Amino acid sequence: MTKMTWDLSEAPESKAHVQIAERYGLFIDGEFRKPQSGMYFDTTNPANGTKLSEVAEAGQADVDAAFEAADKAFAGWSALSGAERGKYIYRIARMMQEKSRELAVLESLDGGKPIRESRDIDVPLAAAHFFYYAGWADKLEYAFPNRTPRPLGVAAQIIPWNFPLLMAAWKIAPALACGNTVVIKPAETTPLTALKLAEIIREAGLPNGVVNIITGAGATGAMMTNHEVPNKLAFTGSTQVGKLIYKAALKGNKKVTLELGGKAANIIFDDAPIDAAVEGIINGIYFNQGHVCCAGSRLFVQETVYDEVIAKLKKRMDNLIVGDPMDKNTDIGAINSQGQLNTIEKYLEIGKEEGAEMYQPDCDIPSEGNWCRPTLFLNVAQSNRIAQEEIFGPVLAVQTFRTIDEVIDKANNTPYGLSAGVWTDKGSKIFQLTKALKAGVVWANTYNKFDPTSPFGGYKESGFGREGGMHGLEAYLTF
Ligand code: NAP
Ligand code: MG
Repeated sequence: MTKMTWDLSEAPESKAHVQIAERYGLFIDGEFRKPQSGMYFDTTNPANGTKLSEVAEAGQADVDAAFEAADKAFAGWSALSGAERGKYIYRIARMMQEKSRELAVLESLDGGKPIRESRDIDVPLAAAHFFYYAGWADKLEYAFPNRTPRPLGVAAQIIPWNFPLLMAAWKIAPALACGNTVVIKPAETTPLTALKLAEIIREAGLPNGVVNIITGAGATGAMMTNHEVPNKLAFTGSTQVGKLIYKAALKGNKKVTLELGGKAANIIFDDAPIDAAVEGIINGIYFNQGHVCCAGSRLFVQETVYDEVIAKLKKRMDNLIVGDPMDKNTDIGAINSQGQLNTIEKYLEIGKEEGAEMYQPDCDIPSEGNWCRPTLFLNVAQSNRIAQEEIFGPVLAVQTFRTIDEVIDKANNTPYGLSAGVWTDKGSKIFQLTKALKAGVVWANTYNKFDPTSPFGGYKESGFGREGGMHGLEAYLTF
């Protein structure tokens, strides 16, 4: 197939309006503090390896101080009326909107995702979560009629690097609306938008200690998990670390929600609108470089349309632009870290060794930074590791099917159960599949659509508990 070339002029988003401090402290009790640990680590731009800033690494004394502040703030915060709490949360939402350009640029610089995505998806959705939960703050008794919803206390929240600001919003907004206080840790490679959020929270005048934002790596996360103060652990990340969090929650008798990995089936029937489905496949797996827990990383195509779907998919892949996340033309940005790139490259080797047929467009990629071309594996077997294990990169494993029962069996044959997609013209097939697929979210004739009113979460090794919607309130309440 001949490759179409797109000679688009560069369209870089300006970075001039963004202030990044040389060094960040820990946001504890309403102020930025130097870490008692005395330690700092670098955060870099994965698109070119340059250092952006250095951030504090919280040690045990710092973690203690953060929980002490959250504990002290709880009585006052939980005693406020819901309407008063709502005012603060609305204010944070509005300030996020005012600073949306700055937040988007920071997110793309620190994490490598295309500016188009951080600008149009991450930041607006993060603000929308604050708006949505602000609205619930004074209506909890209506959300749970004839019950007495009460906050849990202090929540320890740990989030990953793929949607740094959005995951912070998913965690902080419902916790505050329900009257809890928070200690949250962003991931090591992407702390900058959480620290900007700390500045917003301070400027919004939220009472001191209600939200504490501390930075550090896995060791800091473990100190949070094992701390005696929090009554609630909320974790988004890998299933492996999620199991450790669960053990700590059981030991400490804490409430817990776990949002973990996934290996979603995206299912294309022969009566589907094929061009739309191809867009859905692209969006499902290449959005955010495939660093998406609910990514449609297993594609199931009905045999009768296999050749057509694969030809169109390859043609579409040939037109994807991989490169500078700050360029508004870019479709696929930088892989978040060298470590993640190594993992993805390991799976590319595994896929080839397993005998699957690999396809990548021969698009240009920058000479510096972490990059992976969009990748397709054909002739994949159900038992292959690339069909079973989460890769968390722009890598799609393709299988075929003939009947509905066959594809339901294959789709459910995974330890995960977070999400799935179904493409068909027939409503009855959609209902049949949405009932039969063991997945927390099933999209029909679309993919990767998010809304704060809609609960999100998994079955099996994808975790439990729901974030978003009214269900997201329950995770932060006791009755
Ligand atoms: P990860 O290694 O589990 O890390 C997640 C968070 O936990 C990070 O803040 C990490 O800190 C921290 N952490 C690491 N070791 C810890 C420990 N022993 N105790 C406590 N905290 C610890 O996951 P990741 O690689 O960052 O993220 C990718 C994973 O997240 C994927 O599996 C993906 O599917 C999942 N995810 C799920 C959802 C969902 O909603 N279901 C959403 C997004 C991502 P450092 O990063 O600083 O080491
Ligand atoms: Mg970074």
